[in-house]
Amino acid sequence: MIKINNLEKSFGDLEVLKGIDLEIKKGEVVSIIGPSGSGKSTLLRCLNKLEEATKGSIKIKNQDILLKSTNINKVRENIGMVFQHFNLFPHKNVLENLTIAPLKVKNSSKNIAEEKALDLLRKVGLEDKKNAYPNQLSGGQKQRIAIARALAMEPEIILFDEPTSALDPEMVKEVLDVMKSLAKDGMTMVVVTHEMGFAKSVADRVIFMDKGIILEDKSSEEFFENPSHERTRDFLDKIL
Ligand code: ADP
Ligand code: MG
Repeated sequence: MIKINNLEKSFGDLEVLKGIDLEIKKGEVVSIIGPSGSGKSTLLRCLNKLEEATKGSIKIKNQDILLKSTNINKVRENIGMVFQHFNLFPHKNVLENLTIAPLKVKNSSKNIAEEKALDLLRKVGLEDKKNAYPNQLSGGQKQRIAIARALAMEPEIILFDEPTSALDPEMVKEVLDVMKSLAKDGMTMVVVTHEMGFAKSVADRVIFMDKGIILEDKSSEEFFENPSHERTRDFLDKIL
């Protein structure tokens, strides 16, 4: 589904990604962890070309997204993204938030888009909020809507960038539960997170990044039982 070779990304003189190799299969759930500033968000953003890679190749379903001839908008339709700060449209209600992209980008009919949106609201447990505006929702509810909104485009991949970091502790579980059920349904997911419980029990693989390189890429079981690097153990000691 995703194949990254020797990816490098610099901002001016600052080398942020220094040769990333990574393959992710269909249906895999991969957690990316690592200290702040190690390049996790930049890596995710390169995957849908929100950042332009400096060097290397990124293939999504065998399409090299760095080639000028690749229609990046088509590729993006297939990649959902969920951010730390929800980014819902504040002046649109929940139903409108969920239908705007399918209506505009996929040319869905209004009826079909709304039916699909209601299905998704049911799935994230928020059917009763279809007419609410984002500022009438809790953080956990906003994030569940953001996930439903990503799903409305029927992507094959969803990228999550610290989806629970901005939430009050009591709201973390409701969001993780939605993510867990997506994982169970076979969604391909790349999840930057500090939630070690999720990495341990839901992710198939854990990637540990440090200073722009991948230091570990292991099954989650092996990662937590037997990390290879001192640096990983230090990091885990600090956050566990
Ligand atoms: P992480 O998500 O692991 O905390 P980031 O990928 O956000 O790390 O950032 C990695 C490094 O790249 C940091 O030093 C950050 O300041 C820098 N950086 C990220 N985005 C930009 C940008 N648009 N311009 C300049 N520097 C950036
Ligand atoms: Mg980040």
